[in-house]
Parts: sequence; structure tokens; C-alpha cells
Amino acid sequence: MRGAVFYGPGDVRCETLDDPKILEPTDAVIKTAVTCICGSDLWRWRDLEPFGAAQPVGHEYVGFVEEVGSEVTAVRPGQFVVGSFATSDNTCATCRYGYTSHCVHREFMSTCQADYIRIPNAQGTLVATEEVPDQAFWPGLLALSDVMGTGWWAAEAAQVRPGSTTVVVGDGAVGLCGVIAAKEWGAERIIVMSRHETRQKPALEFGATDLVTERGDEGIARVLELTGGIGADAVLECVGTNQAMQQALRSTRPGGSVGIVGVPHEVELDGLELFHSHVGLRGGPAPVRRYLPELMNLVLSGRIEPGKVFDQTLPLEEVAEGYRAMDERRAIKTLLKP
Ligand SMILES: [Zn+2]
Repeated sequence: MRGAVFYGPGDVRCETLDDPKILEPTDAVIKTAVTCICGSDLWRWRDLEPFGAAQPVGHEYVGFVEEVGSEVTAVRPGQFVVGSFATSDNTCATCRYGYTSHCVHREFMSTCQADYIRIPNAQGTLVATEEVPDQAFWPGLLALSDVMGTGWWAAEAAQVRPGSTTVVVGDGAVGLCGVIAAKEWGAERIIVMSRHETRQKPALEFGATDLVTERGDEGIARVLELTGGIGADAVLECVGTNQAMQQALRSTRPGGSVGIVGVPHEVELDGLELFHSHVGLRGGPAPVRRYLPELMNLVLSGRIEPGKVFDQTLPLEEVAEGYRAMDERRAIKTLLKP
């Protein structure tokens, strides 16, 4: 089969790889329907995250079940399935508490930009649709395997409630999905911090009510101005830089919460400032699996359209061009077709 291999900063290649096999009785192998490139893949592309030897890459997927291990009964060959970037058995104490992305048997997916994918913990991880969905729904369902589930988690972690004033820090695919989530969770006002025109349009389409183009102290001042000097009830941090985190913390009202879904890179929190802020923090990899049944219904009923975050589609062979386009902000998010 063909699959993307990450060699180093600025170097991803589509190569011929061994077909994945069932290694454990709890595995499945799926034939990729569509996959994509994640903003988090760009940290390594930009040499901002350490990496070891050349390795396959990609953690987002939807596909057709090809083969299942002897202990997998929840899905069968031929079914169209959606799964999370973090696999889970869906039965352990942590899964039952709702934190499927912290499952005691968790394995992070990392080989998904490929024709076929081995899915560990398939029984708990994969959710099948009733029938094979029309191709028009594939991008939206693909978004659920990470970015839309992550936006949903950001809204939960930030405790967005009906009537909330919400700030979304970040206008990448996760930030945009955070806007969709905040709207679904009932936020009345959704302030998006975005200075890229190409991303402001989808943000407004998804439900943003205000755009703040300033950053840093000016951005914080602008949010305070928009919220009567108090700050927002709920803030979704969807970037991961120190500046974004400080912006999120200082844009939140006393008693409000920040949902952290941007993977932190060199973020430093001041304990004393945090203590006196009365701001709640929660974050981490999104428990996507918990949300899948509900979010799949929202996509298949046409209620939400997270597939709109894909503004570039490329064949798998051109994966490197997808990375370049996202790195250079010519694309928000690139969908790959095997
Ligand atoms: Zn578990």
C-alpha cells in the first residue's frame, strides 16, 4: 500500500509500505475512505517538536472495515466506520468516567495518511454508520475523528452554557470547530480571535458574532472592551503557544473557565496569577470516542458541517504539497484521498 512517511522538518514522502495486518485479536484493519493533515502535524514539519527516525504519520481517518481480529464483534467487514485519534477499549474505569482518550489501553493513531490502517482496540474505538454514507458526508465524518471532537471538548472543558459569552483563541480547523461547538452548546456571543481573512469567513458562517484581530495585550484589551471590562464566561484555547494561553487566561472572567485543546508548546503558567484569577483550567486530548454517536448524528442530519474546514483536497501521493499549503496558510486543512 501507499502511505506518508515523515522524514524530518519539511520532508514528508508518499511511499510504498507493507500492508497493515491484524496483530492482536482486538485489532481491525480498515481501508481508508479519506484522511487528512492535522495542524498538530505541522509542529514537527516546522521543526518545533523533537522527532526520531523516519516514521509513518497521520491520526485522522474514516474508512471501510477490511478485516477484524477474533475479539472484535462491534463492527464487521464492509461497514463504514469513524474512530478517534486516540484508541480506547471503552470499558475501563477511565473510559466509563468519560475520558476515553486516556483509556488504560490507549494507543495514539500515527499511521493514518495511508491506503490501509490498523486500528488497535477496534471494539471500543470504531463506530459504524447504519449504511455507507453518501460521499458528501465523508469530510464531515472525517472531521469528527479529531478536530470537531476536539472543538466539542474545548466547549465542554470551558463550560460553555446556554447564553454564555465565549472567546475562541485560534482560527485554525480546531478553532473553527470550536465555534461550531460553542454555537451548538448555546453560546450567545462567540468572539473569535482571528487575523486571517480566509478564516474569518468560515468563522462567521459557523456562528462567530465578533472578530478580534489584535493579539497579545491589545487582543486581551479588546475582549475586555467587548465584555464590559469583565472577560468572557468560557474561553477555548485552540493554539498551544504561550501567547495564546496568556491571551485565553486573561480574557476569562473571574469564575470562568478555559478549555485547553491546543497542545502546549513552551507554555508557562504563573501560579500566583492563576490563583488570584479565579479562572478554571481543563484540557488534554479530546475524549472523541465519547462524542462520536452524537456528533455522527449531527453531521448525518446536516445540523453541523465541520467538513467545511477542508478547503483543499489532494490525492494521497501529493501529501507533501498538503503540508506545504497548510504551513504557508494557503490551506486551512487538507483532505487526502487514497
Ligand atoms: Zn478504556
